[in-house]
Amino acid sequence: MSQSRIYYFDNNATTRVAPEVFDAMKPFLTEMWGNPSSAYAFGSIVGKHVDQARAQVAALINADAKEVVFTSCGTESNNSAIHSALVTNPTKKHVITTAVEHSANINYCEFLQKQGYQVTFLPVDADGSLDLHLLDKAIRPDTAIVSIMWANNETGVVFPIEEIAAICRSKNVLFHTDATQVPGKMKIDVKALGVDFLTLSAHKLHAPKGIGLLYVKRRTKYQPYLIGGHQERGKRGGTENVANIVAFGKAAELAVEHLADENVRVRALRDRLENTILKTIPNTFRNGAKEPRLPNTTNIAFEFVEAEAILLLLDQVGICASSGSACTTGSLDPSHVLTAMGLTPMRARGCVRFSLGIYNTDEDVDYVLTHLSKIITKLRDISPLNPSHPDNNNYDIEAARVKHETDLAEALAEKDETIAA
Ligand SMILES: *Cc1c(COP(=O)(O)O)cnc(C)c1O
Repeated sequence: MSQSRIYYFDNNATTRVAPEVFDAMKPFLTEMWGNPSSAYAFGSIVGKHVDQARAQVAALINADAKEVVFTSCGTESNNSAIHSALVTNPTKKHVITTAVEHSANINYCEFLQKQGYQVTFLPVDADGSLDLHLLDKAIRPDTAIVSIMWANNETGVVFPIEEIAAICRSKNVLFHTDATQVPGKMKIDVKALGVDFLTLSAHKLHAPKGIGLLYVKRRTKYQPYLIGGHQERGKRGGTENVANIVAFGKAAELAVEHLADENVRVRALRDRLENTILKTIPNTFRNGAKEPRLPNTTNIAFEFVEAEAILLLLDQVGICASSGSACTTGSLDPSHVLTAMGLTPMRARGCVRFSLGIYNTDEDVDYVLTHLSKIITKLRDISPLNPSHPDNNNYDIEAARVKHETDLAEALAEKDETIAA
């Protein structure tokens, strides 16, 4: 790549390690390499730093430190919560989740189906929202756990977790939420939310990859996913990943400080990017509800072009963005999130997600806008998908928007939304 710098718009895939976070973790890769479980001072001093990090991440989510279990990643946390609910409730064989979860959840649920469990995947509507009546109807006496993400990594759409938790509580069913996209963007208070389990992953909040946490509400029955030593108060075997844990603690502190920047400055950058694209590039549509939505995320459908081609040309000028989730890239299937919202596979293949972060600037947004409109024009000129090469000057944006919404509603109406009784 010839660019001297990167224009990074893929913060929902991973984030840059903050310099402060790197400084905090460094000593635990060099001189302070003891085992935190060892009794002698060289180990126990390291243990004190693990304790401190546990208090820092607990403060981020308003949990008690004892309710925090460090894991290797968000995927492990998601799998662990559902696994524990099933193993501690052996007569219950039913799980409820949604059609738009991260693959770290959806693929585990599909695995469970193959093991003989029953899973209900709740549908979403055209703007990616859930119908909570369907959740209410789907809960059965043999439902072990409901697992629903807080904010969608592809569209940024935010689900009403407090209401969902209340429904689950009234029916005595455990509730887990994958909150991986939330820190630094919305305030997290597990006590106010009323959740039993909550997942975070540090590499989405400016700490390294390979460290996550599972919040386990006090007095919740818990069966470890990794069985081994007594680490994590018996909830997760394996010697602690000390440097990463310390990094996570520092990043948790920074995430609280970043709330204002994400919600004011980054939101304004995102809105300018989104509004300018929708206004100046014809045949473009936002995927997902405008609000409530993460302040950093926009997912846009570009008709008549393949997202893979857009991303390739963006990459050539140093811009990092993505189609759907990094975890599904490489498969030719269109995004399961967008198809669940009623987009046709063809339209879903033309969608690009831009996810901004604290290191983005106005200049970055200008750079993307300049290149993107040229790239789309170029691709549409040669696109076999473009039936009419529409005359951009006479383009009626409002009529196209209405048509897009009608198309979505029709596609959804055709889908069988009945939930297995
Ligand atoms: C990134 C992400 C995950 C997976 O986290 P890992 O630490 O990469 O395993 C899970 N859920 C959501 C919503 C994510 O964005």
